[in-house]
Amino acid sequence: MKIGVDLDGVIYDSEKELRVYSELFEILDLKKNTKTDNQELAYQKRFVWTEEEKKQFWNKYHRPILRTANFMPGAKDVLTQLKQDGHELYIVTARGGYDKTVIEETIASLKDHGLDIFTRMHWNSKNKAKICQEEQLDLMIDDSYDNCKAIAEAGIPVIYVKDAPSKEFEHPLAQTLYNWGEIYRYITDQMKK
Ligand SMILES: [Mg+2]
Repeated sequence: MKIGVDLDGVIYDSEKELRVYSELFEILDLKKNTKTDNQELAYQKRFVWTEEEKKQFWNKYHRPILRTANFMPGAKDVLTQLKQDGHELYIVTARGGYDKTVIEETIASLKDHGLDIFTRMHWNSKNKAKICQEEQLDLMIDDSYDNCKAIAEAGIPVIYVKDAPSKEFEHPLAQTLYNWGEIYRYITDQMKK
């Protein structure tokens, strides 16, 4: 199978850290409460912040989190196993849009952890559904409701990774799963069909 994988909230546990520190930043630094929708994945949509405030958050928390976030439990083991099982793996991520230096750092981090296993990496991906189609992926794994919806509607099977108060998503081509163990079981089951 050709499998596309998102980075933040799927390979790296960065989304949870962003959820925590966006709360702290609003309470302690901005001293306000503008949270509008806790189900939104992006803090830019969860809160009503000015461009200057978003920039402050990027410098104080978001940028450091991209450097230091842990891997999601099991991500390294399952990705390595999937590669050993003969699957082709592709990174499809929005990372690298705002700050290009993130790209080289992430490549180095993946390599340092033995994850030099990807056929191709797509950075600053604004239209993931289109990339999935162009790469003719058999499956994409993502934690964004909006991305999963667009990918499924473009006819590509998708695993919607959910471990946060994100929106529910139902589609014949979408499977909601909660961790890398479930993801591995799902993919191996699909291979038996
Ligand atoms: Mg993500």
